Amino acid sequence: MKKETKEETGDVEKKIKLFLNNVLTNDPCVICGNRTEPGGLDFGIGKSLVCVECAKKHAPEIVEIREEALSFAKREKSMLASDIRHKINDEIYLSVEKRILRILDEACKDDGISF
Ligand SMILES: [Zn+2]
Repeated sequence: MKKETKEETGDVEKKIKLFLNNVLTNDPCVICGNRTEPGGLDFGIGKSLVCVECAKKHAPEIVEIREEALSFAKREKSMLASDIRHKINDEIYLSVEKRILRILDEACKDDGISF
């Protein structure tokens, strides 16, 4: 494990940023050298990864922001899945009469006739 020096920790708080990372390699943390666990929304200095422990130590506010963002994204995904589930159910339980009318509308759409 790499030791931190004063020069490296000087204003490291200001340098650690959240970034969208599309390279999911377990590069070592640029501050402490420990293994990182990149997940797509990661901490870094430039494009070099910073581990969660170092981010918590040097920039705890962005750790909270990341947790909120991930929680929000998870909720949005869950709501989207729920919406898709409802749409599928609506289609499955659509009455025969409505299905026939929809098919006839589709078939006659080019003729300008509506059912
Ligand atoms: Zn670290």
